[in-house]
Amino acid sequence: MRRTQLFVKTRRETPGDEPSLNAQLLIKAGYVHKELAGVYSYLPMGKAVIDNISKVIREEMDSIGGNEVLMSTLQNKELWQASGRWDDRVVDSWFKTKLTNGTELGIGFSHEEPLTNALKHFINSYKDLPVYPYQIQTKFRNELRAKSGLMRGREFLMKDLYSYSRSAAEHEAFYEKVSEAYLKIYNRLGLGAITYKTFASGGVFSEFSHEFQTLSHVGEDTVFVDEDKKFAVNKEVYNDETLVKLGLDKSKLVEQKAVEVGNIFSLGSKYSDALGLYFVDEEGEKQSIIMGCYGIGVSRIMGLLAEHFADKDGLVWPQNIAPFEVYLAKLGLDPSVIGEADTVYNRLTERGISVVYDDRDIRAGEMFADADLMGMPYRIVVSQKTLGTGNLELKKRGEQAAQSVSLDNLVEIILNARKY
Ligand code: ATP
Ligand code: MG
Repeated sequence: MRRTQLFVKTRRETPGDEPSLNAQLLIKAGYVHKELAGVYSYLPMGKAVIDNISKVIREEMDSIGGNEVLMSTLQNKELWQASGRWDDRVVDSWFKTKLTNGTELGIGFSHEEPLTNALKHFINSYKDLPVYPYQIQTKFRNELRAKSGLMRGREFLMKDLYSYSRSAAEHEAFYEKVSEAYLKIYNRLGLGAITYKTFASGGVFSEFSHEFQTLSHVGEDTVFVDEDKKFAVNKEVYNDETLVKLGLDKSKLVEQKAVEVGNIFSLGSKYSDALGLYFVDEEGEKQSIIMGCYGIGVSRIMGLLAEHFADKDGLVWPQNIAPFEVYLAKLGLDPSVIGEADTVYNRLTERGISVVYDDRDIRAGEMFADADLMGMPYRIVVSQKTLGTGNLELKKRGEQAAQSVSLDNLVEIILNARKY
């Protein structure tokens, strides 16, 4: 992609109306546009980051038997009345709307009820189960505060997976599989070392749940971490009784701020029973279906990655998440420099490396500032100076020193650095 064809404009000044660092950086670097507090639009590079995060999540969900769907945003009030969740005193973050004839509709904050209802047309017998539908979809929540940028949106992208199982044992086994898949996802997103499976409250329907918490000083949650066991306890359920039950030693736990990047819940048959979804077993008996729900905050993770890896010069993306792996900077308008830069661009592209090629006629300092702000993992410079050496200048984002390398070596360095 040539920079002159890429719909992006960076800015140097920090937006005055945006308190959070992740949104400030993403706005300055041209990844998102702020519509309202807690509501962001994704520009081409922002969309690419969302797609890259989603790709990792999709691969891991598909590998455990997930089937991707896309549910509607407008929802039938009656289904939520059946479960008792239409009431604003039960769910305080609802956005609701009306048809012109006055019929009330919900604007989806979650999808247990509509999905469970839809499955009534597809599930009758034990042979139809288990099923694991998931989606990556926009959720709407009237959050009280929206000061954390993409990390707490009023409109945000969530991956939500739902499991429908024939027995508690079948449910438990899948719950564990999801937990393992989640750890793989956070690893692949570069957050493995600071993300902890966390014991948390279960809400109304089960005794407990698990969250996945990433340590961050901007986190809204407080957790107690056991570094050796790679496990944490949310402050909400932190008490002596819980610690004994989990076999944790209080003296080894360290209090930390964290961001909830995902969670997994056992729901029992609360929703399936309420919506009238049952199955008939081998003996011909009608049985309840055991459900689980499993969320990951896709846009929250984008905000977290932006904020976590940033330095004083701007964004620093992991290679598998960056919109482009390479920022190719061509300095000057000398035809031989342009020719060489075109060659480099073509060669990298042929080898499957994604490149943004800055073909503008601007000062080197301005171009480098843009490259740092936008945060691609590698910067390559082609200039009069590099032409003389027969090599190119390669700098890894976040490192100070550039190295002089041949085009062939450079391709190998970039391809070998791909971890996931
Ligand atoms: P929180 O406690 O942060 O409000 P939650 O318990 O309401 O989260 P869920 O309803 O289970 O979260 O949603 C699943 C995942 O979606 C969460 O683990 C989180 O990563 C993400 N998420 C929840 N609310 C938001 C939001 N307002 N903006 C962005 N991501 C969110
Ligand atoms: Mg919430």
